[in-house]
Amino acid sequence: MSRAWNFSAGPAALPVTVLQRAQAELLEWDGAHASVMEVSHRGKAFMEMAARAEADLRELLAIPANYKVLFLQGGATQHFAQVPMNLCADGQRADYIVNGHWGEKAATEAAFYADARIAASSLADAYRSIPARATWELDPGAAFVHITTNETIHGVEMRDIPDVGEVPLVADMSSDILSQPLDVSKFGLIYAGAQKNIGPSGLVVMLVREDLLARHPRPLPKIFRYAEYAAADSMLNTPNTWGWYLAGLTFQWLKEQGGLVEMGRRNAAKAALLYAAIDGSGGYYSNPVEPSARSRMNVVFNLHDAALDPVFVAEGGKAGLLALKGHRALGGIRASLYNAVPIEGVQALCDFMTEFQRTHG
Ligand code: PMP
Repeated sequence: MSRAWNFSAGPAALPVTVLQRAQAELLEWDGAHASVMEVSHRGKAFMEMAARAEADLRELLAIPANYKVLFLQGGATQHFAQVPMNLCADGQRADYIVNGHWGEKAATEAAFYADARIAASSLADAYRSIPARATWELDPGAAFVHITTNETIHGVEMRDIPDVGEVPLVADMSSDILSQPLDVSKFGLIYAGAQKNIGPSGLVVMLVREDLLARHPRPLPKIFRYAEYAAADSMLNTPNTWGWYLAGLTFQWLKEQGGLVEMGRRNAAKAALLYAAIDGSGGYYSNPVEPSARSRMNVVFNLHDAALDPVFVAEGGKAGLLALKGHRALGGIRASLYNAVPIEGVQALCDFMTEFQRTHG
């Protein structure tokens, strides 16, 4: 077997022990004489597994009792539209703070159901920073304020959770959920595609405060209404059983590792190591993001000569460092350092960078 260090932005590395456990249980799961993918989601074994996954997630994030946990589908992209569909009356304002590609997309999709306004943006800065809180033009009558806590493509992270007063704060946390402790009570709704820090793609985890589920701004088919999912324990129809199972294994793994305090410590150390390698390269490598907004999860950087980018990516691949190519919109290099990427992998990348600079400098 030759598993490489995997820096993919998503779908991304999963913990090896999670994959090994899934492999060991693939043919016969939990005494079912079948795999977890082949049994009813309404059977006792699956229902127990699902409840345990939720309980573990609640414990990891210390989720208050007045929040529902939903296991959904459609990717984060579907919820760009579905969140305003559920929370905004026609023409009601929703404020979007945009500091990268995904926030921009969320606002565009919301415009079908809300008066989606860009209340603050760092576009003028090419999304290399977070707009200062004092510049946000928030409407106290807005249905919610939407933020993207980590912009996966631009490598920009909102380190401090903003205070937006009484208006519910909604966050796309697809690429930084579970990466450190979080005060869930500061949010009205949090959603995340699973394929970075949770499990395989095709699953979305949502935490939503109960009072928001009581909003009924427009008639909707059941399948689009979050309150219906909450009432049915996310089993309104057949859920993504495999994704839910793997998410559950990841939650167990996180608990075994010491929970989110330990994850926060590891992720800070990993990011510090890589940014130090970039900053210490004498300009050979550079990161364009304003230092206080540098992402711990997605580290973007450029080589001093862009012509070397494909060489770096190709030689990295040969050296066992996967998926270093930057997003097509930005070019350059991107290394994603999610929970399942250990510091040994980051050290291997830093060693490779030093050697690359020596041989191609
Ligand atoms: N939001 C963020 C922050 C993301 O990183 C991504 C995907 N990389 C998305 C939304 C879109 O997710 P999906 O492909 O699951 O719809």
